[in-house]
Formats: sequence, C-alpha cells, structure tokens
Amino acid sequence: MELRNCTKCGRAFAYTGNDICSRCASDTENDFKKVKEYLYDHPGATVTEVSEGTGVSEKQILRYLRESRIEIREEDNCLLHCERCEKSIRSGRFCDSCVAEIKKQFGSVIKPQQEVQLKEKQRTTTKMHIASMRKNQK
Ligand SMILES: [Zn+2]
Ligand SMILES: [Zn+2]
Repeated sequence: MELRNCTKCGRAFAYTGNDICSRCASDTENDFKKVKEYLYDHPGATVTEVSEGTGVSEKQILRYLRESRIEIREEDNCLLHCERCEKSIRSGRFCDSCVAEIKKQFGSVIKPQQEVQLKEKQRTTTKMHIASMRKNQK
C-alpha cells in the first residue's frame, strides 16, 4: 500500500490512482453536481457567479473546466485560454486548431489529453526520483 498526501486537504491516504483522498473525492463529486445544476439553471454564468451561487471555489470550477467536465456556454468568454495559443476556449486545455495541430504532431493515435497526462506522470516520476536520491545521500 502506498501512502500519499491528499492534494486537497493534505491528509495521508492509501493511493488508488487519485491524487485526492476518498473524502475529498466525494466532496468534489457533490460540488461538481452543484456546479452542473447551477449552470443548467443559469446558462452563460461566469465563474464568479457560479462560485457565489454554489459556494464552490473558483479554482475548483476552473479545474472542472480544464478536465472538460463542464463547458462554458457563452461563446465569447475569456475565462479559459488555450495553453498553446492563448485563444479563448470553452473547455479543456487547447483550442480546436491546436488540438488538431497536436494530433498531427503526435500521429493522431494519442489524444492530446492523454499526452498531457503522460507528461505530468513523467514529471512526478522524475521528482520522486530526485527525492529518493536525496534520501540516499543522507
Ligand atoms: Zn483530502
Ligand atoms: Zn490554441
């Protein structure tokens, strides 16, 4: 069993593939439902309005947006930007043209989302490697 610290509450928990503990995961799930319901009743609401209406932090709402779990219905929002070209987007991390571009670069087999996750995983692995090297030096 691998113990990790929850990225949300900092509590140690048994790692099961999520970076948050089960308690925070169910909180997140409830918050997500609230956000989704609010957006359903108030299409085109801004992140601030949603945050005030649901009590869910703006940071968390933006996280849902990044995960493509919710979409901003307004066409011309400036809440989210493509991480590649800064064009405003409705959900996810990249605009359609950048997604197409990335797909072309990576040979269309790997979806950009998976590609990004892969990179993040590599980053954490490197970090852990450095940490264990430090431990050995002591
Ligand atoms: Zn937690
Ligand atoms: Zn773009």
